[in-house]
Amino acid sequence: MKQTYRVSIGLEVHIQLKTQTKLFCGCATSFGAPPNSCVCPVCLGYPGAMPVMNREAVRLTLVSGLMLGCSINTTSTFDRKSYFYPDMPKNYQITQYDKPLCLDGTIDIPLTDGGRKPIRLIRIHLEEDVAKSMHEAGWSGVDFNRAGTPLMEIVTHPDLSSADEAAAFLTALRQILLYVGVSACNLEEGNMRCDVNVSLRPPGQDTLGTKVELKNMNTISGTHDALQYEIERQSAVLDAGGRIVQETRRWDVDNGVTIHMRSKEDAHDYRYFAEPDLLPIVTPPDQIDAWRRSLPELPAVRRERLARQYDIPDYDAAVLAADRALADFFEAVAQRCGTGKTASNWIMTDVLRLVTAHETPVTACALTPDALGELIGLVEAQTINALTAKELLEEVFLSGGSPAEQVRSRGLAQVSDSGALDGWIDAVMQAHPKSVADWKAGKQAAAGFLIGQVMKASQGKADPKRVGRLLGERLAQQNG
Ligand SMILES: [Zn+2]
Repeated sequence: MKQTYRVSIGLEVHIQLKTQTKLFCGCATSFGAPPNSCVCPVCLGYPGAMPVMNREAVRLTLVSGLMLGCSINTTSTFDRKSYFYPDMPKNYQITQYDKPLCLDGTIDIPLTDGGRKPIRLIRIHLEEDVAKSMHEAGWSGVDFNRAGTPLMEIVTHPDLSSADEAAAFLTALRQILLYVGVSACNLEEGNMRCDVNVSLRPPGQDTLGTKVELKNMNTISGTHDALQYEIERQSAVLDAGGRIVQETRRWDVDNGVTIHMRSKEDAHDYRYFAEPDLLPIVTPPDQIDAWRRSLPELPAVRRERLARQYDIPDYDAAVLAADRALADFFEAVAQRCGTGKTASNWIMTDVLRLVTAHETPVTACALTPDALGELIGLVEAQTINALTAKELLEEVFLSGGSPAEQVRSRGLAQVSDSGALDGWIDAVMQAHPKSVADWKAGKQAAAGFLIGQVMKASQGKADPKRVGRLLGERLAQQNG
């Protein structure tokens, strides 16, 4: 009989910090530069080259820790992790061992049942990235551009219990780090990668089962799929009475399977020891307090506040709060037009449609919160109709400017002069006697057609609701 096992998943997430230069030298951290064009003796690991700490990388790590509720080690030290591999020619990686910059902390993840679950962090430390080996037919090479790039490693307790939870964790983490601006978190550029530990145990067993490590996952969906596969694979082994062996596996995305990389027997002996070329990092408590005071709201906190303060649906609040710039944009529009609900309706439908259609985020489009607020005001005052508003919105989204000014200079204001509306209605009814007859016979489609013709005659400037009302009155007169 098939058993249900308890799943325990822990993550080690590597985040590339948003610095101009590498962790221990002045080389640029540019992505996609020609191989070995951003290197120097320090990041190539030449004998005698001395590392110099990048203060900005330390600040970004500490700010991340504060955002995630960690306690900060006011004195933090660096260590050498020894190993021999072509991607690390000095034979050790500078990282942190027993005194990392940040300890503890939590990230709340949303559950499918609407609840939330806190995932505990063990530590956050800072380390240098290694070089990249390349293997092609007939040759192998090493690109050192990435060597020395500052990586922040976030290690969790094995609190996650499904592939969905792991994906929710990575999504929440990414959102928070983007909010606080410490990393671009660009998965395509490898800014965010993770190693995953997963173990299964029968219900009632207190100790964790034997863990298997999945190495170098570089997408959230890949992590999810690899975990899903691995949980099923381990369940099947246990169901058949087998034993899980401790090993490291990798995800073969093309075939949708995990593959054995190495077993515990060939695990590295890292031999950590204190890095003698770097002084301990001492962070004064008043500096930590200053950073803490300048932190933005967490996305989850902001989502709840937006729903409450602006009285908008939870779904809208979640979409808006997921992106800090979008949430800022929304709040500015809501303040400008005085109602959160209307602002949210416009942004959730029309603005996000334009963002997708033109692949331009609100931070890069020409539409300002003031302009959108102004446009909403014009619609509410019935100066322009919805059709004109949507056309105008796209123009302003692409080219900027003031909607009110456009309405004035181009005569887009809705025609509310009864004489003009009556004239168009008369002309349309005369030109389409068949539709008028159909309409009298109760065919609603004919009414829609006639309204459309009047809108066309007015070049879109008539108020369609008013036209419908006037047409109805006309029919009532003719029938009476
Ligand atoms: Zn360098």
